[in-house]
Amino acid sequence: MKRAIFPGTFDPFTIGHYSIVMRGLELFDEIVIGIGINQTKQSLFDIEKRIEMINQTFKNENRVSVQKYDSLTIDFAEQVGAKYILRGLRTVSDFEYEHTIANANRQLNGIETVLLFTETEYSFISSTVVRDLIKYGRDIKDFLPPGVEVD
Ligand code: ADP
Repeated sequence: MKRAIFPGTFDPFTIGHYSIVMRGLELFDEIVIGIGINQTKQSLFDIEKRIEMINQTFKNENRVSVQKYDSLTIDFAEQVGAKYILRGLRTVSDFEYEHTIANANRQLNGIETVLLFTETEYSFISSTVVRDLIKYGRDIKDFLPPGVEVD
């Protein structure tokens, strides 16, 4: 049984994140989406709302679940019995960041990080862009996973 975690902030969970999870399901039997609680970062969507939106997205996919965590990502992985960390890569700066963290995590407890390149049409989509669009009253339907709405 291959289980991976997909950790992130997901403020909010976008169609780019959705695509990585759906592609990850070709590689892993189960994916646990982990919402890291970052006390220093001010979020737009509170943690329970983020969980609700992700649950709604994957309501018909029983191989995907979501949990929040308030610890090191490798400790969260161990807690849920996952040997892999799934992450998405959009840009060279994503690569630099992931490279450092992935090596540290492997050194710390042997966990492997699996990186998937973003689909080109989603490469510019980030939670930050979506939050900005919300702030200025734009429609964000196209940036969210299918069937998810923000009220
Ligand atoms: P973090 O704060 O940990 O970067 P995010 O919620 O921003 O959390 O992103 C979680 C993961 O999803 C990261 O691996 C990020 O690179 C990836 N990701 C974000 N947006 C996209 C996208 N449009 N396409 C592919 N991967 C993405």
